[in-house]
Amino acid sequence: MSILEKIMIAPPYTAASLKAELNEKGWRLTPQREKILHIFQNLPKGNHLSAEDLHNTLQQEGEAISLSTIYRTLKLMARMGILRELELAEGHKHYELNQPYPYHHHHLICVRCSKTIEFKSDPVLKIGAKTAQKEGYHLLDCQLTIHAVCPTCQRSLLPI
Ligand SMILES: [Zn+2]
Ligand SMILES: [Zn+2]
Repeated sequence: MSILEKIMIAPPYTAASLKAELNEKGWRLTPQREKILHIFQNLPKGNHLSAEDLHNTLQQEGEAISLSTIYRTLKLMARMGILRELELAEGHKHYELNQPYPYHHHHLICVRCSKTIEFKSDPVLKIGAKTAQKEGYHLLDCQLTIHAVCPTCQRSLLPI
Protein backbone atom coordinates (compact mmCIF):
# COMPACT_ATOMS: atom_id res chain seq x y z
CA MET A 1 0.00 0.00 0.00
CA SER A 2 1.43 3.40 -0.94
CA ILE A 3 1.79 6.18 1.62
CA LEU A 4 -0.89 8.10 -0.24
CA GLU A 5 -3.39 5.25 0.04
CA LYS A 6 -2.54 4.83 3.70
CA ILE A 7 -3.16 8.47 4.60
CA MET A 8 -6.28 8.57 2.45
CA ILE A 9 -8.05 5.94 4.53
CA ALA A 10 -7.48 7.61 7.93
CA PRO A 11 -10.89 8.06 9.58
CA PRO A 12 -12.02 11.49 10.88
CA TYR A 13 -11.23 12.23 14.52
CA THR A 14 -13.42 11.06 17.33
CA ALA A 15 -12.78 12.21 20.90
CA ALA A 16 -11.15 8.83 21.64
CA SER A 17 -8.97 8.65 18.51
CA LEU A 18 -7.75 12.21 19.01
CA LYS A 19 -6.81 11.43 22.59
CA ALA A 20 -4.99 8.28 21.46
CA GLU A 21 -3.07 10.24 18.84
CA LEU A 22 -2.06 12.87 21.38
CA ASN A 23 -0.82 10.20 23.77
CA GLU A 24 1.13 8.61 20.93
CA LYS A 25 2.85 11.95 20.33
CA GLY A 26 3.73 12.13 24.00
CA TRP A 27 1.46 15.07 24.68
CA ARG A 28 -0.12 15.09 28.08
CA LEU A 29 -3.80 15.83 27.85
CA THR A 30 -4.34 17.99 30.94
CA PRO A 31 -7.96 18.80 31.92
CA GLN A 32 -7.42 22.33 30.54
CA ARG A 33 -6.22 21.04 27.16
CA GLU A 34 -9.01 18.48 27.08
CA LYS A 35 -11.52 21.25 27.70
CA ILE A 36 -10.05 23.29 24.81
CA LEU A 37 -10.18 20.28 22.50
CA HIS A 38 -13.74 19.57 23.57
CA ILE A 39 -14.79 23.10 22.58
CA PHE A 40 -13.19 22.70 19.15
CA GLN A 41 -14.72 19.26 18.66
CA ASN A 42 -18.18 20.65 19.36
CA LEU A 43 -17.83 23.80 17.30
CA PRO A 44 -20.73 24.08 14.84
CA LYS A 45 -19.67 23.51 11.23
CA GLY A 46 -18.25 26.66 9.65
CA ASN A 47 -17.25 28.24 12.98
CA HIS A 48 -13.70 29.29 13.72
CA LEU A 49 -12.37 30.62 17.01
CA SER A 50 -9.74 33.25 17.74
CA ALA A 51 -7.73 33.06 20.96
CA GLU A 52 -10.02 35.78 22.36
CA ASP A 53 -13.17 33.85 21.37
CA LEU A 54 -11.83 30.76 23.09
CA HIS A 55 -10.89 32.80 26.16
CA ASN A 56 -14.47 34.16 26.37
CA THR A 57 -16.02 30.70 25.90
CA LEU A 58 -13.81 29.23 28.62
CA GLN A 59 -14.65 32.09 30.95
CA GLN A 60 -18.37 31.54 30.39
CA GLU A 61 -17.83 27.92 31.38
CA GLY A 62 -16.07 28.99 34.55
CA GLU A 63 -12.55 28.06 33.40
CA ALA A 64 -9.87 30.51 34.42
CA ILE A 65 -7.18 30.13 31.78
CA SER A 66 -5.06 33.16 30.97
CA LEU A 67 -5.00 34.51 27.44
CA SER A 68 -1.26 33.92 27.21
CA THR A 69 -1.71 30.23 28.11
CA ILE A 70 -4.40 30.02 25.45
CA TYR A 71 -2.12 31.60 22.84
CA ARG A 72 0.63 29.13 23.73
CA THR A 73 -1.69 26.10 23.70
CA LEU A 74 -3.24 27.06 20.36
CA LYS A 75 0.20 27.55 18.76
CA LEU A 76 1.35 24.19 20.10
CA MET A 77 -1.78 22.37 18.93
CA ALA A 78 -1.42 23.96 15.49
CA ARG A 79 2.24 22.93 15.29
CA MET A 80 1.26 19.36 16.16
CA GLY A 81 -1.32 19.40 13.37
CA ILE A 82 -4.29 19.05 15.73
CA LEU A 83 -5.65 22.51 15.04
CA ARG A 84 -5.54 24.50 11.83
CA GLU A 85 -4.31 28.05 12.08
CA LEU A 86 -6.25 30.15 9.61
CA GLU A 87 -5.45 33.59 8.35
CA LEU A 88 -8.96 34.94 7.87
CA ALA A 89 -9.85 38.38 6.56
CA GLU A 90 -9.88 40.21 9.90
CA GLY A 91 -6.12 40.00 10.14
CA HIS A 92 -5.84 37.88 13.27
CA LYS A 93 -5.61 34.15 13.52
CA HIS A 94 -8.55 31.79 13.84
CA TYR A 95 -8.46 28.13 14.70
CA GLU A 96 -10.49 25.02 14.03
CA LEU A 97 -9.92 21.30 14.46
CA ASN A 98 -7.61 19.91 11.80
CA GLN A 99 -9.07 16.67 10.52
CA PRO A 100 -6.64 14.19 8.95
CA TYR A 101 -6.34 13.96 5.17
CA PRO A 102 -8.66 13.72 3.15
CA TYR A 103 -11.14 15.61 5.35
CA HIS A 104 -9.60 19.06 4.93
CA HIS A 105 -11.90 21.78 3.72
CA HIS A 106 -11.15 25.17 2.22
CA HIS A 107 -12.47 28.67 2.79
CA LEU A 108 -14.08 31.33 0.64
CA ILE A 109 -13.99 34.57 2.62
CA CYS A 110 -15.61 37.95 2.03
CA VAL A 111 -12.90 40.53 2.72
CA ARG A 112 -15.55 43.12 3.65
CA CYS A 113 -17.94 41.36 6.05
CA SER A 114 -15.86 38.19 6.77
CA LYS A 115 -18.74 35.89 5.78
CA THR A 116 -17.00 32.54 5.30
CA ILE A 117 -18.11 29.60 3.20
CA GLU A 118 -16.42 26.24 3.63
CA PHE A 119 -15.98 23.97 0.65
CA LYS A 120 -14.04 20.88 -0.34
CA SER A 121 -11.91 20.39 -3.40
CA ASP A 122 -10.55 16.94 -4.07
CA PRO A 123 -8.11 18.14 -6.78
CA VAL A 124 -6.55 20.60 -4.28
CA LEU A 125 -6.29 17.87 -1.62
CA LYS A 126 -4.74 15.46 -4.11
CA ILE A 127 -2.14 18.02 -5.25
CA GLY A 128 -1.29 18.74 -1.60
CA ALA A 129 -0.92 15.05 -0.71
CA LYS A 130 1.05 14.21 -3.85
CA THR A 131 3.43 17.16 -3.48
CA ALA A 132 4.13 16.36 0.16
CA GLN A 133 4.64 12.68 -0.63
CA LYS A 134 6.95 13.40 -3.58
CA GLU A 135 9.21 15.51 -1.36
CA GLY A 136 9.05 13.05 1.52
CA TYR A 137 7.07 15.44 3.76
CA HIS A 138 4.46 14.25 6.23
CA LEU A 139 1.23 16.03 5.33
CA LEU A 140 -0.51 17.84 8.21
CA ASP A 141 -2.86 20.20 6.45
CA CYS A 142 -3.77 21.48 3.02
CA GLN A 143 -5.23 24.98 3.12
CA LEU A 144 -6.73 27.08 0.38
CA THR A 145 -8.22 30.45 1.27
CA ILE A 146 -9.99 32.47 -1.38
CA HIS A 147 -10.43 36.17 -0.61
CA ALA A 148 -13.41 37.70 -2.39
CA VAL A 149 -16.40 40.06 -2.02
CA CYS A 150 -19.74 38.40 -1.26
CA PRO A 151 -22.94 39.20 -3.22
CA THR A 152 -24.42 41.26 -0.33
CA CYS A 153 -21.32 43.46 -0.09
CA GLN A 154 -21.21 43.83 -3.88
CA ARG A 155 -24.78 45.17 -3.74
CA SER A 156 -24.07 47.63 -0.94
CA LEU A 157 -23.53 51.24 -1.99
CA LEU A 158 -20.14 51.60 -0.33
CA PRO A 159 -17.31 51.50 -2.83
CA ILE A 160 -15.07 48.42 -2.75
ZN1 LIG B 1 -13.22 25.96 8.38
ZN1 LIG C 1 -19.53 40.44 2.45
